[in-house]
Amino acid sequence: MRYISTRGQAPALNFEDVLLAGLASDGGLYVPENLPRFTQEEIASWAGLPYHELAFRVMRPFVTGSIADADFKKILEETYGVFAHNAVAPLRQLNGNEWVLELFHGPTLAFKDFALQLLGRLLDHVLAKRNERVVIMGATSGDTGSAAIEGCKACDNVDIFIMHPHNRVSEVQRRQMTTILGANIHNIAIEGNFDDCQEMVKDSFADQGFLKGTRLVAVNSINWARIMAQIVYYFHAALQLGGPARSIAFSVPTGNFGDIFAGYLARNMGLPVSQLIVATNRNDILHRFMSGNQYVKGDLHPTLSPSMDIMVSSNFERLLFDLHGRNGAAIAELMASFKQGGGFSVEDDRWTEARKLFDSLAVDDAQTCETIAEVYQECGELLDPHTAIGVRAARECRRSLAVPMVILGTAHPVKFPEAVEKAGVGQAPALPPHLADLFQREERCTVLANDLKTVQAFVSQHGNRGKPL
Ligand SMILES: *Cc1c(COP(=O)(O)O)cnc(C)c1O
Repeated sequence: MRYISTRGQAPALNFEDVLLAGLASDGGLYVPENLPRFTQEEIASWAGLPYHELAFRVMRPFVTGSIADADFKKILEETYGVFAHNAVAPLRQLNGNEWVLELFHGPTLAFKDFALQLLGRLLDHVLAKRNERVVIMGATSGDTGSAAIEGCKACDNVDIFIMHPHNRVSEVQRRQMTTILGANIHNIAIEGNFDDCQEMVKDSFADQGFLKGTRLVAVNSINWARIMAQIVYYFHAALQLGGPARSIAFSVPTGNFGDIFAGYLARNMGLPVSQLIVATNRNDILHRFMSGNQYVKGDLHPTLSPSMDIMVSSNFERLLFDLHGRNGAAIAELMASFKQGGGFSVEDDRWTEARKLFDSLAVDDAQTCETIAEVYQECGELLDPHTAIGVRAARECRRSLAVPMVILGTAHPVKFPEAVEKAGVGQAPALPPHLADLFQREERCTVLANDLKTVQAFVSQHGNRGKPL
């Protein structure tokens, strides 16, 4: 499988190089040159497979040429073996033909584990083969950092540096990162905000001299391997609900457009997905595009669903690329005008094409709490605020009651106690057994000034299993 850039100017790469690449050299994002397509018979024959075996069948075409079948199978079995539920991604029924796909049974209790548990293992496999070590730098406002650290903690060939804004992540989120104590794990609390952290990651990619030749790898949501891993659970859900003989609809709590883009790919690979709902919080750039063909940057609003607090959706470029007939020059132009003027619309027929599949809704904090309370009263199910936004959007935007509606349950409610309390449905549930002693565990974290040189000096001092590069 070869991968091409959405801006048309970077060299095509194989899977292994895309895994290590991050952004393409022309500023674009990598996408498969040709998407695999499965027949209905083939998809139907996967009914009843354990999750890791389904994962092998869905993802195999994306890695062929880079990872041997036997290795890939073993990696997948290990990856999904760490999930705390035997079904890995169980479905729970809320209402008539309405389901939550529970994606929060991984080590850090959010769906990001599906991709990052795999990414860590894939990186280690590829790096061992190449006899190479890499440094990962990432910025987090909470969920990504802990999932990335959990995913990389056992990697022999990776040192991971995760920056979070000092005193601005929740205690559970901080402890999920800082209590993982390997010599290759480095938590940095920056005396600044999330954007400061992200800016330092970007600047470090732009000028890598401080790494003395060691390769820098990205684990943010633009990494192709993360998208790829998320395609699998769309197939998994559909197969449980009568697919592919029946069509299916999904409502997806959305920030950077990575998770829902995986659903769009599942459909293009042959899964009969009839509707995809983009569910956003007040940070609604995607809702404004889907409802009015305006992709315009707004202000950042902190909400009760912080993992969706974004101003720009980085993976949206991948959908735009398809909507423009995969014309890289057109995308480069659109993104340049976005950067200069802060916004754009697309031609009517392209927007209409997107609207055949996508609907959207923006849900504010009050409605989020209302929905948590509503669902709790209906069926005793306690939703996290992100999932609640998905449920609200599903109920308002649903096109057909005959088509099963699956809401992606992106996080466990214990991660977001504030929203649960505001909803007035009592205390958040206790931490699951593997995290029960989280508040007693030893923490390790370095507080650094909001200064690029200081951070880069720290990385080069500790980038080789805690020793200097
Ligand atoms: C990251 C995250 C999202 C948003 O996913 P995207 O792929 O960025 O759209 C939604 N909910 C939770 C809990 C998350 O951690």
